[in-house]
Amino acid sequence: MTAQHPSDTQDVLKSRKDAFRIPEGVIYLDGNSLGMLPRHVPARLAEVVTQEWGTSLIRAWNTHDWIDLPTRTGDRIARLIGAPAGTVVACDSTSVNVFKVLSAALALRPQRKVILSDTGNFPTDLYVASGLKELLAKGHELKVVAPEDVRAAITEDVAVLMLTQVDYRTGRLHDMADLTRVAHAAGALAIWDLAHSAGALPVDLAGTKADFAVGCGYKYLNGGPGAPAFLYVAPEHLDKVTSPLTGWMGHEAPFAFDLDYRPVSGVGRMTVGTPAVLSLSGLHAALDVFEDVDMADIRRKSISLSELFIAEVEARCPQLELVSPRDPQARGSQVSFRFEEGYTVMQALIARGVIGDFRAPDVMRFGFAPLYLSHGEIVDAAAILADILATGSWDRPEFRTRANVT
Ligand SMILES: *Cc1c(COP(=O)(O)O)cnc(C)c1O
Repeated sequence: MTAQHPSDTQDVLKSRKDAFRIPEGVIYLDGNSLGMLPRHVPARLAEVVTQEWGTSLIRAWNTHDWIDLPTRTGDRIARLIGAPAGTVVACDSTSVNVFKVLSAALALRPQRKVILSDTGNFPTDLYVASGLKELLAKGHELKVVAPEDVRAAITEDVAVLMLTQVDYRTGRLHDMADLTRVAHAAGALAIWDLAHSAGALPVDLAGTKADFAVGCGYKYLNGGPGAPAFLYVAPEHLDKVTSPLTGWMGHEAPFAFDLDYRPVSGVGRMTVGTPAVLSLSGLHAALDVFEDVDMADIRRKSISLSELFIAEVEARCPQLELVSPRDPQARGSQVSFRFEEGYTVMQALIARGVIGDFRAPDVMRFGFAPLYLSHGEIVDAAAILADILATGSWDRPEFRTRANVT
């Protein structure tokens, strides 16, 4: 039985918890890695499989509008990230979308050669940038500086500033409006990876004038394992950008079967091949849980949950060192603590039903998805963590075995 906490009585989002299928005995602090399953999604997916696929067959591309699922899903995500309708499309993985938007951005700044990023970026973004640079073979340089040095490193030779807004390891939040402004003043373009932002905090893509953005469908958006990602192109670039992956789904008239490529107008030109209808349907349906939700309420609750977690853990677990910014305004919706035996302690914690995750070399990471967490659960999670540390019950061989996925 979860403890009661006074903040839960004033929680305007508390009824949203019922929208999720929450396993008995689990306190889920990993919605930043894989969001929980909304209750209505299995039935919706069954319907897509048996009715739409099973009965309508090929006709469903038209009768169930499968063909527009990427842009229909993109429009639902757009509302959560401050983007106008018609600027977001759900497709491919975040890694592939980084490739596409980075290539498109570099093509808009042909005279410049520097891609600027930081050491807090998620490695796949840097790997993709490095691979693209080799492929282009035009002498681009990938410059990676410490997060606090980014602002000063935005010089007139930078073509593209490419950052992840919320650091996946520490939760440190970049000031998107400020850095985008500085980038534009220097003549550069800005790409933002919203993997740990979308669905977790208010994002204002239009207001901050970001040029491009990408993000994940399976984290705070609860789209399910391997759900399609999304990408955003600012309205002023929409009809200027070129995708490096010119597939038929980005063509103006895919069913004309012309031998020449002509990009469709709008964000659809950033799509490549046949949409993943099953997983897109899951993501599209999962986004129902955000209907009528104000992102400001999500942010308020996220801060309240994370502040409570830090206070509880610091009061009970002196062994752990906070690695996330202490100022909640400088943090996303996650909190991380450093402990040398963090991996082992995390496995012991998971065995007790408190699911967080671990990031090498020594970071225990806890994510707070405000739609399905209560303050009472936060207090319980901290108490269980404290018990594991105080009793040394984590120190067992079975918790030391490293799994493939941490
Ligand atoms: C989770 C995450 C990704 C994941 O990319 P995939 O292509 O979906 O594997 C990319 N970038 C960031 C910043 C992430 O946090």
